[in-house]
Amino acid sequence: MIGADGANSAVRNAMGVQYVSWKYNHMGVVATLQLAEESENTTAWQRFLPTGPVALLPLDSKRSSLVWSTSPEHAKELLNLPDEGFVDALNDALWKQYPRNKGVDACTAWVGSVLKRVGLPDGAQRQLPPSVCAISPGSRAAFPLAFGHSTKYIAPGVVLIGDAAHRVHPLAGQGVNLGFGDIKDLTELLGDAMYTGLDITHPEWMKMYETARQRHNVPTQLCVDALYRLYAYDLTPLVLVRSVGLQITNALDPIKKLIMSHATT
Ligand SMILES: Cc1cc2nc3c(=O)[nH]c(=O)nc-3n(C[C@H](O)[C@H](O)[C@H](O)COP(=O)(O)OP(=O)(O)OC[C@H]3O[C@@H](n4cnc5c(N)ncnc54)[C@H](O)[C@@H]3O)c2cc1C
Repeated sequence: MIGADGANSAVRNAMGVQYVSWKYNHMGVVATLQLAEESENTTAWQRFLPTGPVALLPLDSKRSSLVWSTSPEHAKELLNLPDEGFVDALNDALWKQYPRNKGVDACTAWVGSVLKRVGLPDGAQRQLPPSVCAISPGSRAAFPLAFGHSTKYIAPGVVLIGDAAHRVHPLAGQGVNLGFGDIKDLTELLGDAMYTGLDITHPEWMKMYETARQRHNVPTQLCVDALYRLYAYDLTPLVLVRSVGLQITNALDPIKKLIMSHATT
């Protein structure tokens, strides 16, 4: 049996495995957005607000999907707004200018000049978000956000995949990727088991699946959780670390490629 029944997995509960979880004090407000202008629309776009990140994920040339992480009270307000009021609130969230930390700006300017001096981009390029003109009727909803880790992905004859085994905050867009990775590794291992004529539920195969996936999933989950915490506070040292960290990551292609390659396996 493959337990693919999501974060509140009944299969996982029946396995009786330990599940480590904590709630983020965040709801994810989702909607399908109509963009004001038609474009190639191939870039996912995310802005970190004091209340949490707001992300637009491309669907096609005129539509994007929204994931707006915010406090439960704010999420409730957003769900109760009429469609036009919701679009105004979203455009405000995407475009509003917040007071900037002058010390951090000075540091990033200095880091940018050092990067330029060594022949690298200054890592400070800004991309403007698309404007939203409407939302698809009935597409608005909100979901609680949480971290979850099943300490075991296997039991005799049973494996867990996807959110049944692990759950992350959507700020890095990694939930589905982790599940796709589980499926890829599991099908490969089951294929090998079939090919060699062994019992596909043999503990050795299943253990190989669990070990491979936990080695990938747990560090990814912890990184996503750390990112959430790094952006949850406005203390100057944290703002400095994340601003300079992103700037350097943006300037160094090998680091970006390494992160992308980890995210897609
Ligand atoms: C607000 C929000 C935004 C997100 N944004 C992103 C994003 O941008 N990028 C990304 O990669 N991930 C994102 N995620 C995470 C992503 O949605 C999940 O990682 C993914 O859906 C997990 O897929 P899954 O198939 O494992 O579980 P699910 O999608 O939860 O599917 C489980 C299925 O099992 C069914 N089921 C459950 N119990 C039973 C039962 N007893 N009998 C029959 N059927 C049952 C459910 O109805 C459901 O259809 C987001 C999550 C949230 C909450």
